[in-house]
Amino acid sequence: MDARSRLESDRRTTLARLALLQRDVAAIIAASEGSNADDEHDPEGATIAFERSQATSLVQQAERHLTEIDAALARLDDGTYGVCEVCGAPIPAPRLSARPVARTCVTCG
Ligand SMILES: [Zn+2]
Repeated sequence: MDARSRLESDRRTTLARLALLQRDVAAIIAASEGSNADDEHDPEGATIAFERSQATSLVQQAERHLTEIDAALARLDDGTYGVCEVCGAPIPAPRLSARPVARTCVTCG
């Protein structure tokens, strides 16, 4: 599989995961509206707040990964993909297969 196919398949997977995670966050928010979550002494409210911040940070992670994928696709388009952005050396193929969004070589990464 070439870099573009890998990135595009990763992009589809990440978008699907993001959709699920956003649904989780929406469900947690809906659940918190149905309970006394505003009451800070309510243990259930504390659990919901924790779940909500966990789910929100997973959403942010997925969004960041999506940004990295888009940046890697842009580098493929302008011909700088696979070149270390620090030292300019080619990024070894095994590193790119393991991490298609890599922007630096092993030494600089
Ligand atoms: Zn480098």
